[in-house]
Amino acid sequence: MLYDALIIGGGPAGLSAALTLGRARRSALLLDAGPARNAAAAQVHNLFTRDGTPPAELRSIARAQLAAYPQVRVQDARVERVERVEGARGAFSVWAGGEVHRARRLLLCLGMIDEMIDLEGFAAMWGRSIVICPYCHGWEVQDRRMGVLAQQPEQLEFALMLRGWSAEVVVLTGGALPIPPEQRARLTTGGVAIDERPLRRLLGEDGVLHAVEFDDGAQRPLEVLFARPPQRQQPLVAALGLALDGHGFVQVDPMRRETSAPGVYAAGDLCTPMQAAAAAVGQGMHAAAALNHELTVELALAGALPPGPPRA
Ligand SMILES: Cc1cc2nc3c(=O)[nH]c(=O)nc-3n(C[C@H](O)[C@H](O)[C@H](O)COP(=O)(O)OP(=O)(O)OC[C@H]3O[C@@H](n4cnc5c(N)ncnc54)[C@H](O)[C@@H]3O)c2cc1C
Repeated sequence: MLYDALIIGGGPAGLSAALTLGRARRSALLLDAGPARNAAAAQVHNLFTRDGTPPAELRSIARAQLAAYPQVRVQDARVERVERVEGARGAFSVWAGGEVHRARRLLLCLGMIDEMIDLEGFAAMWGRSIVICPYCHGWEVQDRRMGVLAQQPEQLEFALMLRGWSAEVVVLTGGALPIPPEQRARLTTGGVAIDERPLRRLLGEDGVLHAVEFDDGAQRPLEVLFARPPQRQQPLVAALGLALDGHGFVQVDPMRRETSAPGVYAAGDLCTPMQAAAAAVGQGMHAAAALNHELTVELALAGALPPGPPRA
């Protein structure tokens, strides 16, 4: 079967796009490899009408609602390879789960891969006591002892903002990030502590952080650590040769959400550092609407849209 659109990735962006395409009467196949990027978190927060919903439940509600749109199929399978069909603008072959699918357009909603930081205890506490975004988890951990694992200069200013959630915030540089005198003064004035001792490990149990231990054996009590691990794109992005911005995110036309490859659209975390479920939902809807507009006009002009039901 030739689908109008093939969506790769079944997180908030892909599922939102599938809903939009289904409602636009376009045939679509959504392929998802799982698990969710936020699978380690117990609940998704700061999402309109769904605050506090577990990530898996969010996805299953979205899939259940797609059942109302019979032209949309959802399948659990990893896409291994994508090829453009020679000579046809916007026609693609997609290999997944031992099958080959054909589609007129591709919509990439692949998310990003978080690389775990090489610090003992980090991976075990990721998504529980170690979080990225205060809008997602700040309310739940308010007034606790917070640390910021500062590896980039912008995390120093971020620590000041965390003061809105707690009076006890410490910047941990491990001695690897020089703090300019002006920035040091800003942190001190804003009530943020600074600890530059080299880090040895994070101490805790069952994903719950108790303290950070330094190389000299000293410990500092800590209940939450904000960290932004490095991210990389899924391999499909390089395989398609998509242009990236200076920070490694897929470049899209801001209005049409088309990537540097004609007929390939993108939405969600892979395009932006502003990563949140609500943002991904919005981008998925936007990309699907842009894709639908272009494709439907193309099909109408080619006389390729199906005739309507017979009139009495
Ligand atoms: C620990 C943690 C907690 C978070 N908590 C919150 C929160 O509380 N609130 C909030 O708003 N945001 C939160 N976020 C951010 C939020 O999860 C993301 O912004 C959101 O999931 C992005 O949606 P997405 O659809 O772009 O990508 P994702 O949700 O990452 O979905 C991408 C999907 O694509 C699939 N995929 C990748 N490659 C392939 C392939 N080759 N073939 C098929 N499928 C593929 C993946 O398996 C995945 O299912 C959190 C993130 C993390 C890491």
